[in-house]
Amino acid sequence: MANKPRLVDSHAHLDMPEFDADRAETVRRAFAAGIIAVLCPADLTRAASLPAIAALAEEFPTVLAAAGVHAHQAKDLSAGHLDEIERLAARGAIRAVGEIGLDYHYDFSPAGAQREALRAQLAVAAKTGLPVIIHSRLAGADIIAAIDGERFENGGILHCFTEDWETARALIGRGFYVSFSGILTFPGAGALREVAAQIPLDRLLVETDSPYLAPVPYRGPGRRNEPAFVVETARVLAALRGLSFEALAEVTTRNFAALVPFEKSGGRC
Ligand SMILES: [Zn+2]
Ligand SMILES: [Zn+2]
Repeated sequence: MANKPRLVDSHAHLDMPEFDADRAETVRRAFAAGIIAVLCPADLTRAASLPAIAALAEEFPTVLAAAGVHAHQAKDLSAGHLDEIERLAARGAIRAVGEIGLDYHYDFSPAGAQREALRAQLAVAAKTGLPVIIHSRLAGADIIAAIDGERFENGGILHCFTEDWETARALIGRGFYVSFSGILTFPGAGALREVAAQIPLDRLLVETDSPYLAPVPYRGPGRRNEPAFVVETARVLAALRGLSFEALAEVTTRNFAALVPFEKSGGRC
């Protein structure tokens, strides 16, 4: 009998409408599967987002909240959002700022607006002392430039990492952890698995990015992803690294706790 893992899902959008019917039940299923903490980024441009995560964090002390304005919504970032991040951080209601970043694949907001929103939120995060959750799609060089431009030194998570090894290496050198999603389990993701094989063990994390990107074998049209499924990504990563599943779970959980201490969590939104 294999021991239960003690895994952390470093990124799950449990605020999304996909979980309206069974949000708390989804967390209980994850805990039953051995997931001991879940980091949930709230989208400050959507009114229902933060309250949904705050309610979960209230019920489950290791559901951890983050907040920010995503690259997709960068054009809607206001001074009010920046103030809100600062207030939430000041009362310990969030553990990270994010997700924030750049997405040059979808381009839902103009690239210039994305870069401005990223830099403004890096500046707020620097003030709060919190790490950031970075979303980067085809944008590694500009992410690095923004972090250097703001002299941002709190580190953070490169969530759902799909960039190349050089980007990973540069950001690891700036205090970042590299989080892999269910994409790692996809048959066509050989290049990403090669990157994952090179990341220093003490910088590895796993995530679901629920409700998106369900890993194999849950993948399929319309299939909802959920934190319990992070086990599958961890399995693939363990095999890639020549580690037992338990050892991989232990190291990624330790890494997460080093960045976002959570055992004695109790922040209130
Ligand atoms: Zn993202
Ligand atoms: Zn996300």
